[in-house]
Amino acid sequence: MNVLEVKNLKKYFPLRKFGKKHYVRAVDGVSFTIKEGEIIGILGESGCGKSTLGLLISRLELETEGEIKFKDQKISETLKLPKDIRRRIQIILQNPYDSFDPRFTVGDSLFIPLKINQIGDSDDDRRNMILEHMEKSGLTPSKDLYRRYPHELSGGQLQRLSILRAMLLKPDFLVADECVSMLDVSVRADVINLLMDLVQSLDTSMMFITHDISLGRYVSDRILVMYLGKIVEMAPADVIMENPLHPYTKILISYSPTLIKKKTRIPIKGEVQTLLSEPKGCRFAPRCPYAQDICYQIEPNLVEISPNRFVACHIVEKEARS
Ligand code: SF4
Repeated sequence: MNVLEVKNLKKYFPLRKFGKKHYVRAVDGVSFTIKEGEIIGILGESGCGKSTLGLLISRLELETEGEIKFKDQKISETLKLPKDIRRRIQIILQNPYDSFDPRFTVGDSLFIPLKINQIGDSDDDRRNMILEHMEKSGLTPSKDLYRRYPHELSGGQLQRLSILRAMLLKPDFLVADECVSMLDVSVRADVINLLMDLVQSLDTSMMFITHDISLGRYVSDRILVMYLGKIVEMAPADVIMENPLHPYTKILISYSPTLIKKKTRIPIKGEVQTLLSEPKGCRFAPRCPYAQDICYQIEPNLVEISPNRFVACHIVEKEARS
């Protein structure tokens, strides 16, 4: 069963430039599903729309157009979700200092959501539950940390607490948005291992947003690559890493120091541009080393070129059909 269904989702941000109104097309017609217990990695450079997609799905941002269903129930068109659904969809943000209220101790920040959602039989039960999970997660001495304020903890400790806070609510779906990118390299593995242990033990589905392609491969069952608000390739993680088809995915992998076997980087021109006007042709064409005339004229559709394998590229589609 699908835990999430996303259809033609769009988010345009209005922008005034030289007196004219434009729209930044952060997410521009994205469709996919996520099965129960599945982990889907969302990959792409900064500005490709992956974080906006995470905010739309966790209902912290309202879409411009499109539909989102959570377990067959429509959750788009409003940010006011019923309390039970709000509990079942959780998000972990990139910067843990943004996700804790500096006026509360970290213990209270974990306790309040449990109390609101009536998880645990009593206040003592809730406190004990938090302390027990802190101990299991290596957040010791737990009683001392419980009483501290966010600014008194390290980024790694705080991110582990934000993962615990989300998972204590027993969500069905979790969005993890670049959740280790701001942490020291030395603590990243511990934080990812804690996240994976909790997600797997509760069989939670997860959208794992990252620009780190090797981390995306390690964590995900399936990978979705985004470029300028669109999905350009979507396939099981092993398949996409062993044999990327879209030129952008090939380039991303060729620049990953841990994944590329041969030192053959594919050259790429320029940087991701902000998409303000109606695009003509393939959005990747100005940077694509394989672009042909058709690429500048017609936008490629995301096509299933083999079972469970989707690519948006004229050249790949032509080769698959020949
Ligand atoms: Fe490159 Fe053309 Fe494919 Fe776009 S459609 S990725 S420009 S080859």
